[in-house]
Amino acid sequence: MSESTATIAGVAVSTDHFIAGKRVASKGRFPVYSPVDGLLLAKVSAGGKAEMDAAVAAARKAFPAWAALGPKGRLPILRRFAEGILAHKEKLAAVETMDNGSLLAGNLHRIVPRAAHNIQFFAEWALTLEGHAIDSPEVVNHVRYDPAGVAALITPWNAPMMLTTWKIGPCLAAGNTAVVKPPEWAPLTCSLLADIAQAAGLPDGVLNIVQGIGEVAGDALVNHPDIDRISFTGSTDTARIIGQAAARSITPMSAELGGKSALIVCDDADLDAAAQTVAGQYMNAGQVCLAGTRVMVERKIAESFLEKVKGAVSHMKVGDPREPGTRVGPLITKEHFERVSGFVERAKAAGAEMMWGGNGHNFGELYYQPTMVGNVARHSEIDQKEVFGPVLNWYTFAGDDEVIAMANDSPYGLGGSLYSRSEDRAMRIAGAIKTGTLWVNCFFVRDLAAPFGGAKNSGIGREGGVWSFDFYTDIKNVSVRKDSFAQH
Ligand code: ADP
Repeated sequence: MSESTATIAGVAVSTDHFIAGKRVASKGRFPVYSPVDGLLLAKVSAGGKAEMDAAVAAARKAFPAWAALGPKGRLPILRRFAEGILAHKEKLAAVETMDNGSLLAGNLHRIVPRAAHNIQFFAEWALTLEGHAIDSPEVVNHVRYDPAGVAALITPWNAPMMLTTWKIGPCLAAGNTAVVKPPEWAPLTCSLLADIAQAAGLPDGVLNIVQGIGEVAGDALVNHPDIDRISFTGSTDTARIIGQAAARSITPMSAELGGKSALIVCDDADLDAAAQTVAGQYMNAGQVCLAGTRVMVERKIAESFLEKVKGAVSHMKVGDPREPGTRVGPLITKEHFERVSGFVERAKAAGAEMMWGGNGHNFGELYYQPTMVGNVARHSEIDQKEVFGPVLNWYTFAGDDEVIAMANDSPYGLGGSLYSRSEDRAMRIAGAIKTGTLWVNCFFVRDLAAPFGGAKNSGIGREGGVWSFDFYTDIKNVSVRKDSFAQH
């Protein structure tokens, strides 16, 4: 078989770009290894400026006809796309697991259905964008949500299928065309999505995918003069670089970045539920931007709560993400493993206590033990920086003012969870924390109609529901003077 196709878990996956409805190979290729077993999965075409120029040109060419279809015309195509994702559930889940090490069961039951929902939900929501008027004494303001044009969509490796569909769903539903730059550490499910979209009847050029390294292909995309939107999910440092390109061309940019969220457990909480949520932060081996990595427990109950958390964590099996009983799979690459263990080693050297874990796991080279760090010095590296591994910090507090100050003492503001049985108390603390999402007595529930994004260094803008369309459209006011048209 040529390098243009890789067979992964029995599934044939194209390793080339998808431009104007055709597969296009590059001369150069980059290797993609599976975090599950460290073996080479594929040699993927490494795109650069030439491929990006072709993809943006294809997206520009396809734009007028796609925009002209309107939400009603686009709906059946996007619906078939969503159905196609569900129809290929097993394949997508298996490839995603080999590509980024996420749990197979989670991909099958949660991520693939969500990916389909991301496409279908926004295609239906787009129907509500028409016909909004604001009456004023002299004029009627007809508010229009015109498609913006060509969108540059850049996604990270920790949840490629989920995040690619979360971007292309509203982007295409609003009438834009797209160029996607998938993550170089896990680019393969995105390639399958292109085939599914094409089989659903998505016109050539509406969705283009250019594989490549961030600093080369990603850089060529965000610096392209003919893009109208940049939607980025990834690290804060990369967002700073992309933001400079967006600033030079005055291109609207949405960015969803890192986090170091608080997980607050008050003395009146349902401690069993809260303990399960703490253990749940190890999901995806902690490679989750929304993870509540700063666990803050009211001092009065800290000891008894710790026992409950230990109990919940002791049942979490570290191992092969394809096995049904596994709860914690591998980290994505050796490089990332070293980054995670570097944070832990420096924390140890600075006097932090390893309440459990603190080392690699003997299951395999890329596996890391679920870890709880205690005795964390305020403003130390482990207190402030995002580790992006199965590493949580443990803090105790006395009273609301202290926990609010602790939660806000972070450069990030992406997520957060709070457990309390008192509504007054929960809502007061929730209101005082600067963050994009705060879950009360729950975690990770995300309705696509609700806003999502980050405060502070965790992002720019909000997406979800109407906020997605605010971003992916040019909102225009056609202000018409009353009684100014000829009467028939
Ligand atoms: P992570 O730490 O989650 O990998 P990154 O910010 O490094 O986050 O990567 C997220 C995405 O951004 C990837 O698709 C990557 O290729 C891309 N990327 C990295 N650097 C750049 C850049 N300079 N310009 C555009 N995209 C980039």
